[in-house]
Amino acid sequence: MFIEYLEEILENEKKAMGEYRFNCPFCGEEKAKFYVQSDEPFLWHCKHCDQSGNPIKFIMKYNSVGFDEAKEILKDFGYDVDNISSSNFDNSFSSELTDSEKMILAIKHRHDSKSDAESDSAIELNPINPPYNVKLLPHNMNNPEALPYLDYLHKRGITDDEIYRYNIGYTPLSSVTTKEGKNVMIHTSIVFFTFDDSGRMIYWNTRSIDKNAFIKSFNAPAGKDEYSKDTSIFNLNNAKKTGSIIITEGVFNAITVGISGVATFGKQVTEHQINLLKDVYEENNDTKFVVFLDNDAYEQKERLGKELSNFSDNVYIVSNPYKEKDANDIGRKEAQRLVSEARKYSYKNSLLAMFGV
Ligand SMILES: [Zn+2]
Repeated sequence: MFIEYLEEILENEKKAMGEYRFNCPFCGEEKAKFYVQSDEPFLWHCKHCDQSGNPIKFIMKYNSVGFDEAKEILKDFGYDVDNISSSNFDNSFSSELTDSEKMILAIKHRHDSKSDAESDSAIELNPINPPYNVKLLPHNMNNPEALPYLDYLHKRGITDDEIYRYNIGYTPLSSVTTKEGKNVMIHTSIVFFTFDDSGRMIYWNTRSIDKNAFIKSFNAPAGKDEYSKDTSIFNLNNAKKTGSIIITEGVFNAITVGISGVATFGKQVTEHQINLLKDVYEENNDTKFVVFLDNDAYEQKERLGKELSNFSDNVYIVSNPYKEKDANDIGRKEAQRLVSEARKYSYKNSLLAMFGV
């Protein structure tokens, strides 16, 4: 295919959402500004020199050949121009872009051209694959196999409405390969999905319903260009619409505190995650941020408060008097009461809290 040909001849390949990127062969830039669609009709566009075209135009330019010869070259690696033109496009597949092709490119690059300069060094992340053999509880509410999972969730205070809202999954048995190449078996587990703003699943983690499970919870392993527990936040897509974000460590806590609850997959909130929260602030300056990390995450709580207060003065910290218990342990009603009584973050209060005053 056309992409395989490009992979052979171009450098600095990067995979992005629905696109491949390379160094542009025409202007010689070296930051992979040459974008190519990963599917037909494989339109390409260099954001550095602004040249664009379809595969035919690419071959003509790159190999300095005419239209007919370019067509033959494309045919050699299984790309039949005549077929493509009739099935995919309203206009003849010439070396120039048709109006609809130009429009596709324009739409595709409309939102990212603005932030182009700052996103130069940012890696574009891909969603990770779901584990195999996962079923969605909303599709299996009457399936006897799903009963133990539903039962477990109900016992932890999760309602059927929430099972639908978060599209919670389960797997009797699955396995994944870690970055180190090890196989990890996942037994009788709930599977939680993290979605992006467009509702696309980008990350998942699991929780075993078996008390004696060797692996109780498992965060999906991610490659370096994939979403990970450090670069995604559970339920941020829903919570941001509510005008407040309640930041917890784990998915059960996030669901317990309600639709504004998000989970960071641990007490160490990463810079990337803080930037995601900052994006929410930038979309809506009135967003209220409530830090509800577990009690053992004492310093992390104050530090996160400080980081958030760098851009927002609407930051609150929950103090939880139930020492060993997290939001899910203390139950919905009490957890929500603590949220409503959260203290406003200030540097001074934070110092006092640190010294236990
Ligand atoms: Zn270029």
